[in-house]
Amino acid sequence: MQNNQQDMIDDINAEVRYTHSLIGKDTLDPRVMEAMRKVPRDAFVPPEMRGAAFENGPLPIGYGQTISQPYIVALMTDLLAPEPGHRILEIGTGSGYQTAILSQLCSKVYTVEVVEELGVIAADIFRRLGYRNIEMRTGDGYQGWPEHAPYDGIIVTAAAAYIPDALVEQLRPGGRMVIPVGLPYSHQELVLLKKDEQGKTETETVLGVAFVPLVEGGHGGHQQGSQGESGSRNDAGV
Ligand code: SAH
Repeated sequence: MQNNQQDMIDDINAEVRYTHSLIGKDTLDPRVMEAMRKVPRDAFVPPEMRGAAFENGPLPIGYGQTISQPYIVALMTDLLAPEPGHRILEIGTGSGYQTAILSQLCSKVYTVEVVEELGVIAADIFRRLGYRNIEMRTGDGYQGWPEHAPYDGIIVTAAAAYIPDALVEQLRPGGRMVIPVGLPYSHQELVLLKKDEQGKTETETVLGVAFVPLVEGGHGGHQQGSQGESGSRNDAGV
């Protein structure tokens, strides 16, 4: 039998409990789980993938990219701790699913995608579902989006080899950044960076993950035949 949205929520909760010693909690913020319940994940996957839309795993969305695993989307959103008045920057729009979850929890989401075609598809879904507090542009997320900085939170949904300076600069004092850091298709860690009121930053690693790479300079975003696994847990290191 196919999973439905409630099965997906149950699976996320089960995986949160299973990983509690790594993530330091056994439940996620109820507001985050409410957003996961409200946003229809099946609207963000290609038609041929709809049957698997509520399974707790990543799925291909074309252009060598993937929609992240629901557990990872929920966990990253919880770590980011968005609040109703917040303005959030997301790097790596992809399917737009993480963007839509954030749009439920803050006042404005700015999102940057390097593959123009994916941005067009995501923008169309936002319009159809009536999510109006999202602004998107095509470009290289390593540079952030300086025009709207500073942001209360920054979330990166592709793995960067290092934490880009431009993103740290565009984070307001007191803000948080959630970013997978590591080598392409190799060991990566989900990192939570906090910037204090004096502008000093500290980082903590949360758990091992497997994301598609954050491509530098806006090239190679479409990797022919690449096997993206964005946003799945990597059992090595967990
Ligand atoms: N949050 C998305 C994740 C998609 S996978 C979802 O759940 O659907 C990561 C995305 O990052 C891909 O769409 C990829 O094209 C994009 N990406 C990779 N490098 C980028 C860069 N330098 N700037 C902006 N987006 C980038």
